[in-house]
Amino acid sequence: MVPLLTVRLSRNRSQIMPKRSSRMLLILYASRRSRPPSLADGPGFLYAFVDRGRRWKIGMSKNFVRRKREWNRQCPSSDRRWMMPVAVKRRRRAESLVHLLLEFWSSDRPRTRCTQCQQTHMEIFEFNEFNADSRLVWESIVHSLLVKASTA
Ligand SMILES: [Zn+2]
Repeated sequence: MVPLLTVRLSRNRSQIMPKRSSRMLLILYASRRSRPPSLADGPGFLYAFVDRGRRWKIGMSKNFVRRKREWNRQCPSSDRRWMMPVAVKRRRRAESLVHLLLEFWSSDRPRTRCTQCQQTHMEIFEFNEFNADSRLVWESIVHSLLVKASTA
């Protein structure tokens, strides 16, 4: 009963409030950062791509080339730009931290159905800075956060 309730609560929360408060995100970041390393964690990559110059997806994988192929097959896009992945020592920890940082700095964290594959992807971020120019958003925000999470 408890896990069901947790699922329902978190689903409601994500629909009502896509982007959590800065205060909440800072608390979560500090708490996750101090969590001891997990044995299930290990090396890999943080990857990022942007669809239609605006919708950023950041994830992690042990095998970047395979994950990229999966994305391009399961959610094909005619306007997708893959960024250079960042190598990390603990991919799960780095992903968890970078998602909080991205949520903190993003303009929006939309939870809408994907027009390409009809799925609702998790952890999509939008940035309005620099007129949403994807090259500048990558160089000035997203890449810095990936690097920060990789060493945090
Ligand atoms: Zn999709």
